[in-house]
Amino acid sequence: MNLTILTLFPEPVEAYFASSIMAKAVARGLVTYRCVNIRDFAVDVHRTCDDAPYGGGAGMVLKPGPLAAALDSVGGDRIRTIYPTPSGRPFRAPLVHELAAEKELILVCGRYEGIDQRIIDRYVDDEISIGDYVLSSGELAALVIIDAVYRRINGVITAESLDEESFEDGLLEYPHYTRPETFASVGVPEVLLSGHHEQIRAWRMEQRIAKTRQMRPDLYQAWLAQRDDKE
Ligand code: SAM
Repeated sequence: MNLTILTLFPEPVEAYFASSIMAKAVARGLVTYRCVNIRDFAVDVHRTCDDAPYGGGAGMVLKPGPLAAALDSVGGDRIRTIYPTPSGRPFRAPLVHELAAEKELILVCGRYEGIDQRIIDRYVDDEISIGDYVLSSGELAALVIIDAVYRRINGVITAESLDEESFEDGLLEYPHYTRPETFASVGVPEVLLSGHHEQIRAWRMEQRIAKTRQMRPDLYQAWLAQRDDKE
């Protein structure tokens, strides 16, 4: 997958691509990326990229000129372009799967009050919100989207790990335990020590259902409805 990130602050983006599983995916050629500094496309001597909003109000808005030039330079008119924004559609597992099937993506990181609407109208295919709160900039949101998507590319992590994850069948995950068998006087549930695969599978399923019901009643109700439909 080819990823292009348009930003005014490349440092956190570069740092992310240089660490951990992503660095390995890049080294293995599973992911390629370009981090494009929007400021390189500003034309005045001060390399200005923001200006006051028409109509007044607090804050600044990213100017359309430098953004359009940056997007034109990376194929923004033909490649699926994402603008992370609190007013986008919620970022959930089905959208992650959909984006993971793409060969190329562009992500535009906003700052201040956001970007000029004419850029959204002309270039942006998806406005995506990572949650109902406001971050100070789009870099972290873009990286959240990238992180959830690239790990679903074949070969990045094992297929088995992906299948058993939260949300894959509408439920949250079961609890995990590792050595030592007793920690701070608390033991591991007996069934996990039994070696009885069928009982372990059943226990984990019970735990998943109970956890989903407690933490995410919305998901639990949807899972119940889906199960009833199947039956
Ligand atoms: N004025 C905007 C509003 O009230 O919706 C908030 C702008 S925010 C301070 C600056 C940038 O951070 C946005 O342009 C967007 O790129 C990013 N951002 C902030 N919160 C986000 C969220 N929940 N999801 C995705 N992107 C977000």
